[in-house]
Amino acid sequence: MIGLAIAAVAAIGASAAGYQSMAPEGQWFGRAFSHASHGSRQIALTFDDGPNDPHTLKLLDILSKHNVHATFFLIGRYVRERPYIVAEIAKQGHIIGNHTFTHPLLTFQPGSRIREEIVQCGNAISETVGEHSNLFRPPWGGRRPGVFGIVRQLGLEPVMWNITGYDWKAPSPEFIEQKVTPKIQGGDVILLHDGGHASPGADRSATVAAVDRLLTRYLAEDHEFVTIPEMMSLRKPSSM
Ligand SMILES: [Zn+2]
Repeated sequence: MIGLAIAAVAAIGASAAGYQSMAPEGQWFGRAFSHASHGSRQIALTFDDGPNDPHTLKLLDILSKHNVHATFFLIGRYVRERPYIVAEIAKQGHIIGNHTFTHPLLTFQPGSRIREEIVQCGNAISETVGEHSNLFRPPWGGRRPGVFGIVRQLGLEPVMWNITGYDWKAPSPEFIEQKVTPKIQGGDVILLHDGGHASPGADRSATVAAVDRLLTRYLAEDHEFVTIPEMMSLRKPSSM
């Protein structure tokens, strides 16, 4: 019986740790920015897994139409393949962050590989657009103890999110809107995707259309769309 109880506790512990290794707001494995104080009028749109042809450019047009800036976490190997899109993101005043070179799940990688992935991605971005942000987002949000320590040793700041758009499996813009809008509290960081980690060319037309609708709605409701650095500069210590 005691053995069973220990096994049960271990299983609960392991599943809780498993949850924390992916949970966007979990802080067990190191603190990371995931949102500002709720009730703020600010919302930050974040886009992962680009640059991606043609959806990143279409998204830039939508953001420009609404005069809004966002934060893009780019995959290094795509940056190497599509530098002209990265240059356009930077030129239009958006923030560029590091999302590793090949998008591995860092939970299972040794420190040396994690460093290599981050440094290679940072180099790809620097050699394309020069100086950029010090923001980093782990693929799938996955981490284990030590990952964010390595990130900070490299001079980067980990950024998670508190609202998921589930746009990688979205059949329509409405699907994404329905995932996002019930969760908006103000001060939110929304995770969306302009690319796909598995291969270039992922269809993100639903994301692009959903962003247009979200911007129309929340700008009319007096929200302000900001980049992650803008949101971080206003955060209170309690929101860490
Ligand atoms: Zn990703």
